[in-house]
Amino acid sequence: MVIPEKSANIAEQYQKVLEKIASTATRVGRSADEVKLVVVTKGHSIERIHQVIEAGALRLGENYAEEAVEKINQLQASLNVKKVEWHMIGHVQSRKAETVVRYFDFVHSLDSVKLAERYERYANQLNKNLPVLLEINVSGEESKFGFSAWEKTNWDPLQTDIEAILSKPHLRVCGLMTMAPYFDDAEKARPIFRRLVEFQIYLKRKFPEVDWKELSMGMSSDYEVAIEEGATIVRIGQAILGPRTKA
Ligand SMILES: *Cc1c(COP(=O)(O)O)cnc(C)c1O
Repeated sequence: MVIPEKSANIAEQYQKVLEKIASTATRVGRSADEVKLVVVTKGHSIERIHQVIEAGALRLGENYAEEAVEKINQLQASLNVKKVEWHMIGHVQSRKAETVVRYFDFVHSLDSVKLAERYERYANQLNKNLPVLLEINVSGEESKFGFSAWEKTNWDPLQTDIEAILSKPHLRVCGLMTMAPYFDDAEKARPIFRRLVEFQIYLKRKFPEVDWKELSMGMSSDYEVAIEEGATIVRIGQAILGPRTKA
């Protein structure tokens, strides 16, 4: 993975990544506009976020609700024209659910029925329709958040939870998200992305009335492989913004 120097020009890095996304998509016979970029701004200063917005970024991803709210509020003051979408990509504690519904446009990391119930309650109160992705653990690692679906024998038992989430009128389930562990060799992430696609096909068959089309997979280290395997959303931080200053 190439991580640019801190002094690297953010606009340039942003364009490079966009070009790489486009060339990877066309190489495998996909159209470049099938893949949306979320720029992951966690751990970066307002100045740097501002620069990437100026460079044209439309979707920004954050992991921590509180850190994000601070930034969103600060940026709102300086950005009266541009409307960026905020994407929650990290694990959310139930007590932060209201903040997320209030400030975010899209949730990638829905990982429990309990959280879905909280989102539903606040989305209802705030009269919002919240687009969500189900976070799926297909890496076989115990420590990761998300519904565990590496083993195909887990798929049928997950249906009850998925039905419960699908029944929430203010949540719009539009696909799946996964995070591969970090590998030096991105090829090692390929089986994980393939398994997510297999699970998506399974869900399309079980719940044909739902639009499962979004696949949020791929980060700085493995986004090209993810696009080759069908990603519709990639979440990229370091390759655009350089090393993070906070964790
Ligand atoms: C931090 C993070 C990313 C981006 O990682 P980079 O290596 O900076 O590209 C993507 N997805 C999630 C869920 C993250 O936490």
